[in-house]
Amino acid sequence: MSATIIDGKAFAAKVRAQVADEVTKLKSEHNITPGLAVILVGEDPASEVYVRNKGKQTVEVGMNSYEHKLDASTSEADLLALIDQLNNDPSVHGILCQLPLPDHLNEDLVINSIAPEKDVDGFHISNVGLLGTGQKSMVPCTPLGCLMMLRDHHGSLSGLNAVVVGRSNIVGKPMANLLLRDSCTVTIAHSRTKNIEEVCRAADIVVAAVGRPEMITGDWIGKGATVIDVGINRIPAPERGEGKMRLVGDVHFDSAKEVAGAITPVPGGVGPMTIACLLANTLTACARANNLPEPEGLTA
Ligand code: NDP
Repeated sequence: MSATIIDGKAFAAKVRAQVADEVTKLKSEHNITPGLAVILVGEDPASEVYVRNKGKQTVEVGMNSYEHKLDASTSEADLLALIDQLNNDPSVHGILCQLPLPDHLNEDLVINSIAPEKDVDGFHISNVGLLGTGQKSMVPCTPLGCLMMLRDHHGSLSGLNAVVVGRSNIVGKPMANLLLRDSCTVTIAHSRTKNIEEVCRAADIVVAAVGRPEMITGDWIGKGATVIDVGINRIPAPERGEGKMRLVGDVHFDSAKEVAGAITPVPGGVGPMTIACLLANTLTACARANNLPEPEGLTA
């Protein structure tokens, strides 16, 4: 039997619509417009596309978008001065510095100079610590999107066995913390994990965040398990013509969908949820800054 396809594109549209409704209310009832500032240093083409999409979707939900494009040679002092200015600007509720940064800039220093309450990426060390200790924090967008889809599909996650494959700071670790917070029994697998196929096969939920195209095949998946594929990998697609590429996940979709109970596709799964959750985080940051109730269902 083929798995239910979890439609991240449709889910993200629903999240954006909810955010847009909340923004309308904030404007009409409190005269507040949430604002998101995005900083891009240099001219990395992939980052430029992300930043353009973020700006476009921010405006579409009725928020203010502030884009700061800086030269690749921008000094650390100038970047920190800009962040300081945005930290102190009451019209800016969320600040995101697009990664990766050019080599001469210290990424940790830059991220940790963003005010934690405006850190809509959830990468500031304070937010990492708050999440790890189960306290209210800003939560990284991609794991938040995965959590929303899992909660929507399962209702309660309590007691389920979840395996997160990958232990990065931006996906694997925060994902594991979120699942633990929802009372899953969590295993984090990585490149040194022994019998990783067996570990995955025993799981009710597998979240793949590895960065290796189609590594997780159907025989790694337990019957009826839910599979969330975070991976975005570009691979050659000669069948589409010379030099053409296509996107695949970290999961081998065709074999996994024959065993899984539910699965996210790539593209159209986790990807669209990431920007939707960035908007949700900006709204949450704005509500908190103004001592207003947080919108329901948009936070961890
Ligand atoms: P990282 O490269 O930072 O981490 C990859 C993790 O996978 C590491 O913990 C690594 O283990 C583990 N790993 C690598 N090879 C294996 C293996 N053979 N077996 C088991 N584990 C392995 O990647 P990210 O977490 O940043 O990203 C993961 C994927 O998610 C990428 O495809 C990325 O493009 C995608 N992504 C998608 C987003 C979205 O919006 N949908 C957002 C962010 C990322 P170890 O620590 O032992 O080296």
